[in-house]
Amino acid sequence: MQLRRKQSDFLEDYEKLLERARSALPEKTQTFERFETPPIDSFLQGNKTIIRNFDAIIQKIRREPSLLAKYFSKELAVPVSVESTKLVLNGKFYERNLREKLQAFVDAAVICKECKRPDTRIVEKDGIKTLICEACGARSPVKL
Ligand SMILES: [Zn+2]
Repeated sequence: MQLRRKQSDFLEDYEKLLERARSALPEKTQTFERFETPPIDSFLQGNKTIIRNFDAIIQKIRREPSLLAKYFSKELAVPVSVESTKLVLNGKFYERNLREKLQAFVDAAVICKECKRPDTRIVEKDGIKTLICEACGARSPVKL
């Protein structure tokens, strides 16, 4: 009983300590949240699926349009083409399915494996893509 009370006292102190440490952190660290994958806005046109906001997605995830276009083509096994700000998929696909694919792409080619931040870039050398994190410096192979 005695021991348990001491432990909880300690825990309380620890919580206070944590709180103080947190409030001392710079604003940027404090407001960091998990990267939110942009939602896909798509519609059907005949036998094609058009991703209307392809351009906005590219801007948010900061990857080459061709890299994401190729990924969709490979994952969905259909030809795709970039038409101005849109991506045209030669097939009918559910928006939910496309969102899942995009999430998988973001996990593989945008988010740092170590610190989970999106501040990364891809460097390609001898056909091998490496994800380099600008926030923590971690490197990991990109498997797409
Ligand atoms: Zn990192």
